[in-house]
Amino acid sequence: MKMNRILLSLSALLIMGCANDVKNIETRTQVIETQGKEAKVIETTVTDAPSAKVSIVEAPSIEIIDKPIDFGQERIGMTKKYIKKHYGFEVDNIEIEPKIIVLHWTADMSFDKSFKRLQPQKLFSDRKDIAKASALNVSAHFLVKRDGTIYRLMPENWMARHVIGLNYSAIGVENVGGKGNKKDDLTPAQLKANIALVRYLKEKYPTISHMIGHHEYRKMENTEFWLELDKGYRTKKSDPGDVFMSKVREAVSDLNLSGAGK
Ligand SMILES: [Zn+2]
Repeated sequence: MKMNRILLSLSALLIMGCANDVKNIETRTQVIETQGKEAKVIETTVTDAPSAKVSIVEAPSIEIIDKPIDFGQERIGMTKKYIKKHYGFEVDNIEIEPKIIVLHWTADMSFDKSFKRLQPQKLFSDRKDIAKASALNVSAHFLVKRDGTIYRLMPENWMARHVIGLNYSAIGVENVGGKGNKKDDLTPAQLKANIALVRYLKEKYPTISHMIGHHEYRKMENTEFWLELDKGYRTKKSDPGDVFMSKVREAVSDLNLSGAGK
């Protein structure tokens, strides 16, 4: 029993040792007698144990399933053109430096339908509201199912078309739901998944300083992140709503992410 406990804590310490300064770990080996048999015990002491303990607790546990949308040369080419036309940059690749997380809902209750809207490279013919700006299909980096399963649809640092003016620095998270584009019906499992995803992204990309709901995007027009050159290209959005945003914000308040402002 005692041995089990020692071995368990030892393996935990070894995991920490990978991420922390090895100098902080001291080991001492001794031989003891237990149940009439000799056993070797390696005692490990971490001099700054309290901070090491915290790093284990805070490590985000998250499962992400890759389910790629079609993002071939055609979509990459259209993305480059979009960047040139709307942001004024001539680029060799479509990589972005993530600074903002934008949360959405798909306004559709079906995961399959939501996925199929984002899958093709070219925009659907019923999107007349934004077709003039580009034929590039809309997309997002992540799609969260009603049960909280997180799918990654495209590389996290490629530009997706999901938020006017801010795409060049924004990672998009779509949630299946928002019936009729107005009902605040995202599930507790989706809330939990969004919180985990925001934590995962902030840890991976320390450049992220903002988190907004899509419905708040126009409040970003006077910030350094806003790049849209076409003054007539704007939409009115209601996703994912103030209630959902305030719940996510409360849960990740320790990350000190800024909102969209007033
Ligand atoms: Zn949206």
